[in-house]
Amino acid sequence: MAWDFSTEPEFEEKLEWMRDFVRQEVFPLETLSLTYDQVRVVIRPLQEQVKSHGLWAAHLSPELGGMGFGQVRLGLMHEILGQSPLAPFVFGNNAPDSGNAELLAVGIETTGSEEQRRRWLQPLLDGDLRSAFSMTEPNTAGSDPTLLTTSAVRDGDEYVLNGHKWFTTNGSVADFLIVMAVTNPDVHPYQGSSMLIVPADTEGVDIVRDVSTMEDPETPYGRFGNHAEIIYRDVRIPVENLVGREGDGFQLAQKRLGPGRIHHCMRWLGQSRRAFDMLCERAVSRYAHGSVLADKQTIQNWVADSLAEMQAARLMTLHAAWKMDQEGQAAARVEIAMIKYYGASVLYNVIDRALQVHGALGYSCDLPLESMYRAARAARLYDGPDEVHRQTVARRVLKGYTPTEVPTEHIPTRRIEAQRQFADLLESLTIDT
Ligand SMILES: Cc1cc2nc3c(=O)[nH]c(=O)nc-3n(C[C@H](O)[C@H](O)[C@H](O)COP(=O)(O)OP(=O)(O)OC[C@H]3O[C@@H](n4cnc5c(N)ncnc54)[C@H](O)[C@@H]3O)c2cc1C
Repeated sequence: MAWDFSTEPEFEEKLEWMRDFVRQEVFPLETLSLTYDQVRVVIRPLQEQVKSHGLWAAHLSPELGGMGFGQVRLGLMHEILGQSPLAPFVFGNNAPDSGNAELLAVGIETTGSEEQRRRWLQPLLDGDLRSAFSMTEPNTAGSDPTLLTTSAVRDGDEYVLNGHKWFTTNGSVADFLIVMAVTNPDVHPYQGSSMLIVPADTEGVDIVRDVSTMEDPETPYGRFGNHAEIIYRDVRIPVENLVGREGDGFQLAQKRLGPGRIHHCMRWLGQSRRAFDMLCERAVSRYAHGSVLADKQTIQNWVADSLAEMQAARLMTLHAAWKMDQEGQAAARVEIAMIKYYGASVLYNVIDRALQVHGALGYSCDLPLESMYRAARAARLYDGPDEVHRQTVARRVLKGYTPTEVPTEHIPTRRIEAQRQFADLLESLTIDT
């Protein structure tokens, strides 16, 4: 019987190395308020160390320089990387570049386009180009991408792209954007949408602004991590810039989002653990009303509930990863949807309790909790809001049930059935007694 929660010793060694490395070498960088370009310089020697340990861009297939680890092992790695916003850069799998590289790789697998590999994918993997993923529109519901209105109309050897997008993360610093657009309005959007590589300096690409958010109310234009509003006006894109084939847009999006959600959820657990450690450390340190906070039952409840919730989210996420590895992404759809909303709520709750236990200090910028808290709120929105994932789960589950006039468990009805089933035995009981 195969039912195993252990990690192979060789891989556990790698994880051990990662834990120490991230804590010793990456955590300190967080406090230095470096610009993105400064970060790139400072982390270069760290990236070399990661490469020498065979852990660079591990999410990619071996043909692209990755490790082909599978989702469970990648998940365990992301749990460590999630502890620090800088760690994914050091390990060559920062969003959205990592997901975009996967998209390009899947597309190239379909079309065999060596030109796309040479011009876009390889420089992206080498860190020489930056990318963004441009799908959500301000005027249509992002949670229902069948409503997208951005269009790409074929004109000879080019597409003419028109549309209005926003929340394109890194849109204002990207060298190229992967844009989702309707290429055939006459069929269902699942078959009529496509992804196009749009160089950011193409005529007609208008980066209107970086949108200020709860995470970053002060948003200097062109900062890494910002979310851009972009208007595409008659942007002419050569047909060879299609990712995959025309009409592949939704299929590609699904391929990108499944593993991405596992990694998000594991990174959230890394964040949750960091907040949890702060919660516990403060609980045993702060004295009020005759005892340390750790002696108050409410605080004990927070510790116990947080640990249980993190453990549940961790097992759910690793199980989803395992199912993906065993049976493929489609088979793990419900599990992936469940971890998306459950993991986001655990992240939010644990950080909220850690912030609360620190009082004013938690609310201040002297601790990372306030920024973790603001970032955590977005987790319930991006990659699809909670409600949509809950709907996916509920719909799938409910498909397994059929309507009945009388509930299956209706005791009087079951009693009649049982009396019929056991009539002989019941009769003999009556005779014997
Ligand atoms: C930090 C951040 C980064 C992002 N990065 C990117 C990016 O790089 N590229 C990109 O293209 N997009 C990005 N997005 C956009 C994100 O994908 C969308 O915000 C998300 O898909 C939701 O779309 P929407 O904002 O249009 O909300 P809407 O679709 O308008 O939904 C609003 C609300 O309606 C409710 N709702 C929707 N559907 C249902 C339903 N079926 N049942 C019940 N309630 C429902 C939910 O409460 C939902 O929150 C990012 C968003 C954030 C916050």
